Amino acid sequence: MIRKIRHIGIAVEDLEEGIHLYRDVLGLEFLGTEEVLDQKVRVAMFGVGEVRIELLEPMSDESPIAVHLAKKGAGMHHICYEVDDVAESLKEYEDKGVRLIDKAPRAGAEGMQIGFLHPKSTGRVLVELNSKG
Ligand code: ZN
Repeated sequence: MIRKIRHIGIAVEDLEEGIHLYRDVLGLEFLGTEEVLDQKVRVAMFGVGEVRIELLEPMSDESPIAVHLAKKGAGMHHICYEVDDVAESLKEYEDKGVRLIDKAPRAGAEGMQIGFLHPKSTGRVLVELNSKG
């Protein structure tokens, strides 16, 4: 079951410029940066109430974010919903005919378990599911 929006993922070419925009210009609360090696990205997190904004900068050309930037440029990348159990939710959605990117949960930022649904099954919006460890 989806509990709430956890974060919105935004692809950026340059994380330092992104941090400047979101922290210094827009004035969001800056929570820090992290490298997520599984997806080859550097992440900067910002707090907006209970929701976070996740800026994503590719660390290599093989990163899914590098592919997104090459195809579509910077901007909105995905929406992340918090669920109780990512593995269970992935199975439920697969049973409903949703195409999955991840058949099983993997490690995301902040020690979370994450899994992606395929945008072809979700109205062309990339959906991430997320739960605590
Ligand atoms: Zn995310």
